Amino acid sequence: MSASAPHPTHLTLALAATIRHDGHGGVADELDTPDGLTAWVRAHAAALPGALGARRYRADESALEAVRGVRAAVRALFARAVRPGEPSPADAGRLLPLGEAVARLNEAAARVPTVPVLSWPRGGDPVVRDAPAVPSGRTGAAARVELLTAALAHATLAFLAGPDRQRLRACHAPRCVRYFLKDHPRQEWCKPSCGNRARVARHHERGRDTA
Ligand SMILES: [Zn+2]
Repeated sequence: MSASAPHPTHLTLALAATIRHDGHGGVADELDTPDGLTAWVRAHAAALPGALGARRYRADESALEAVRGVRAAVRALFARAVRPGEPSPADAGRLLPLGEAVARLNEAAARVPTVPVLSWPRGGDPVVRDAPAVPSGRTGAAARVELLTAALAHATLAFLAGPDRQRLRACHAPRCVRYFLKDHPRQEWCKPSCGNRARVARHHERGRDTA
């Protein structure tokens, strides 16, 4: 992984964030059509395995269903990771059972094993990264679905077992449904605009209480 590429664990957060608020009090899903998945994969090409050909990637219905399945597992485990905090309200009432979520991620990860690959850039330090061990000749649509879901699952496994998990929070500003990484100890909101909305809402509530 080069210095400019996003950290692979952030792929997990990006996948979870495809469910977001629509700005009107509802929830929008970026992955509700194959075109939505195509755009998302192309936008995250730098963090996905080269063998996927992500920059020219085209999703079909089976890829969409598989990726949405991984995302459901990610969001169920994010809901667990933020305990004792409340999960994102977007799907708090319809989360996968934890055992099923873990099994689904492990199965997706196992379909494409990885091998360590060394690179040693001129003037830099040697770096080892895990790359998918893709059997030659497996280049069809089904193989690409496996490659994509395995990459998402590997990133999620690394995130959940790594130190960033403890910084994961669900934003509870009005209308927000995002999971985010807390950057400093007192951070409560995913971004300043959410903090502003939350303060305005609290102010209104206080106004009602004293009226
Ligand atoms: Zn927020």
